[in-house]
Parts: sequence; structure tokens; C-alpha cells
Amino acid sequence: MHSFDFQPIGIIHSCYTEKFGIPRQSGLVTAAPVTLELYAPYDRPEALMELRGFSHVWVIFVFHQAMRDEWKPTVRPPRLGGNQRIGVFASRSPFRPNPIGLSAVMLEDIQCDNGHCQLRLRGGDFLDGTPVLDIKPYLPYADALPDACGGFAAQPPHNEMTVVFNELATAQCARWEQAQYPGLRSLIEQVLQADPRPAYRVGRKDKQSFGMRLYDLDVKWVVCGSRIEVTALSLKA
Ligand code: SAM
Repeated sequence: MHSFDFQPIGIIHSCYTEKFGIPRQSGLVTAAPVTLELYAPYDRPEALMELRGFSHVWVIFVFHQAMRDEWKPTVRPPRLGGNQRIGVFASRSPFRPNPIGLSAVMLEDIQCDNGHCQLRLRGGDFLDGTPVLDIKPYLPYADALPDACGGFAAQPPHNEMTVVFNELATAQCARWEQAQYPGLRSLIEQVLQADPRPAYRVGRKDKQSFGMRLYDLDVKWVVCGSRIEVTALSLKA
């Protein structure tokens, strides 16, 4: 049986500096800006000619933080509560025989500077530093299948948490937004509305405290029922 040796063509720079908090699919958090830095020689403008004509692209990438020596035929997807096992090929789990990811994302801009190009994307579900294997244009006539059946994942995950910021977090977020991270508040709101908690923590009635990392910030938040309160933002310790 042949094996193949693929070289990354680029790398993802995203706000998700740890896995906790990354949305479970692309398109769920559109406030997340992503830069796809292309490596030479793939970063030449001619390699991207006509790509601007597409609003979305497929990004094929490596789940580089999910590398395992062996694969398992079943996984327990978070959206089924984390207990029910299904076949790995019926899932979009990162833990697969070949840890390859596939995400359709918005192509916001192509920036070329001195003959080196990078892509500005939106709506990714990529960990910062994710290696990219390929980019392809999204072809609505071929890729959009509105009559397709979505199995156990027919609808987007229904979480819809209410997200509020306390006074301290409001002031801290405004300062970071001003200084370095435009759109930070809507990013935090969208990430938390998607409820990143592990399945076994969802639905509990007691008040729970969490911390997640976005960029180089620690974001602290508490959950009570379907209400999330952001309580503090600080530089990563
Ligand atoms: N849309 C892609 C797909 O269908 O192949 C990814 C779906 S997968 C469920 C999305 C999750 O992969 C994210 O929530 C995050 O936990 C994880 N992830 C993202 N980038 C990763 C990386 N570079 N290494 C390992 N896990 C990663």
C-alpha cells in the first residue's frame, strides 16, 4: 500500500491559541479573523490568479495537535453528549487515520506584498499554527447540496447561550479592542454563544467557572443555566 508525503503550503494564524473555545465547525464564529500565510514558492501571485472571484474557499489542513500513533474506529462526538460512540468516518473528529481537516471559509482578501501573498479569511475553526495542505475555490454549483441529509448533525449545534460582560470585563475588553484586537467583544460573544463547554458540563444547574485563551489573553467567564457572564480579561500568565 502506497504512503504519500505531503508538504504544507502554508500556516494558519488565528485567535485560537488553545483548542478549548474553537468552534466545532467553520462558519459558526464569523468574527474570528484568520490569516493564511503561504510559504514560498506557493505564495506567488500567479498561483492565486482568479481566486478573488470566489467568496469562499476550502482549506485542507492537518490537525497537528491531534496526532496519534494509532487510530480508533469509533469516536464520541461532543454534540451527541460525549458518551455515544459513532464511526470515525461518520464524524468530523480531528482524531482520524489521517488527521486531515476540511473547512469552507469566507475569503475576505488576498494581500500581496513584494511578490509574497497571504489570504485573509473569516469563520475558521483552526488552532493557531495549523499547517495547511491545500486551498480550493468553493464551487456553489457542485459543493452546495441543499437537499443533502445531515444525519445526526442535520442542524447547527443548538446552544444559543446569552452572553453578558460585567463592568470590569467591559472596560478591559474595550481597552484591548482599542489597543490591539478590533472586534474582540463580538468574537468573545460569538465563541461563548456557541457554548464551548465539554458535553458533560452542559445542562448542569450549578454555577461553573471557566477560562479560555484567545490571542494572548485569558478570558474568564462563569455559567449559570443558559447565561454566561464574562468576568475578566488579562494577559496570558
Ligand atoms: N471543519 C473541519 C473538518 O470538518 O474537518 C474541522 C472540524 S473539527 C470538529 C473542529 C475542531 O478541531 C475544533 O473545534 C478544534 O477543537 C479542533 N482543531 C482545530 N485545529 C486543530 C489542529 N490544528 N489540531 C488539532 N485539533 C484542531
